[in-house]
Amino acid sequence: MTTAPETSTQDTLRASMVSVVLPMHNERDGLDRLFARLVPVLQGLGVPFEIVTVDDGSRDDTFERLKAARATVPHLKIVTFSRNFGKEIAVTAGLARTSGDVVVVMDSDLQHPPEAIPQLLAEWQSGHYDAVYARRVDLDRGSPLRNAFSTAFYKAFDYMSEIRVDRETGDFGAFDRKVVDAFLAMPERNRFNRGLFAWAGFRTTTIPVTMEERQTGTSQWGFFKLLRLAIAAITSFGTLPLKIWAVIGTFVSLSALAYGLFVILKTLIFGADTPGFPSLMVAILFFSGIQLVGLGIIGEYLGHVFSEVKRRPLYFVREAIGFDRPFSILPPNHGAAAPEANRDGR
Ligand code: UDP
Ligand code: MG
Repeated sequence: MTTAPETSTQDTLRASMVSVVLPMHNERDGLDRLFARLVPVLQGLGVPFEIVTVDDGSRDDTFERLKAARATVPHLKIVTFSRNFGKEIAVTAGLARTSGDVVVVMDSDLQHPPEAIPQLLAEWQSGHYDAVYARRVDLDRGSPLRNAFSTAFYKAFDYMSEIRVDRETGDFGAFDRKVVDAFLAMPERNRFNRGLFAWAGFRTTTIPVTMEERQTGTSQWGFFKLLRLAIAAITSFGTLPLKIWAVIGTFVSLSALAYGLFVILKTLIFGADTPGFPSLMVAILFFSGIQLVGLGIIGEYLGHVFSEVKRRPLYFVREAIGFDRPFSILPPNHGAAAPEANRDGR
């Protein structure tokens, strides 16, 4: 679509409804500021919109404040979970309850500037793209340790998985209804949203956006939570970590064989000297270490299989407010993977 004229954000949007999904965990202090910036942007689009917030088991009064905000914020809908299920699942729950033909997903802490939404939507409209991601233009602003970790994760993910996920794109983006339905048709419990979107395919593009600092509160992602997401992401999208053990095992066995030959020859030529306690110790530690790592990785995959096989619902909804129809506490796609099922369940 190189010949398509540059669409200005002033052009009227051809969407019958725009949905915005906001996952929230302990975001009480940021709410007013968020809506103060988001609502004018959405009103400026000139099409109907809805704001679907998902209170992901906040321990503060985020839910009460959201309910109060319904007095001033138009078309605000609230889903609140029975407990904290994590951001990936909160976004999934929000997406399942949207009805727009295009859906914007963004963080609620104003790190994703709402002012970029018109550009995302213009790109969705003009270039006929199905998914438009905001691309971070200021990558290395976190702590050096976090940046190093994140670079290492994307390298590892790239190398070990069957799909590609850019480091520059995050969870801020606009998705066509068909992408949302495809996403919702993937029923797995271990969810790495960007991986699922990438796996779904469709025509994807990015636009540069300057992300902001978190306005209030603190990041919910401690080091171990991030590490867990990274491991889940890698093991959800590829089996290289499993297969690599065949290679390492072969290599180690061959080295052991060579060392064995060396020991036999040495004994034949020089006779038996003092028993080699150190080398024995080293060999035992080395091999048991390798076996434990291998077992751990198999365990990681077995854990995935276990959690999928249980077929528990992704989440439970404690209350849903502002929707046209009452919802069951179960995810709309529970037990049925077809996108049509999502529509019927709405
Ligand atoms: N979030 C959530 N559930 C969680 C943790 C975070 O819904 O268990 C939301 C949070 O409210 C925010 C978004 O996910 O809207 C991103 O979280 P955060 O800002 O803590 O992550 P970071 O920006 O540091 O990656
Ligand atoms: Mg944040």
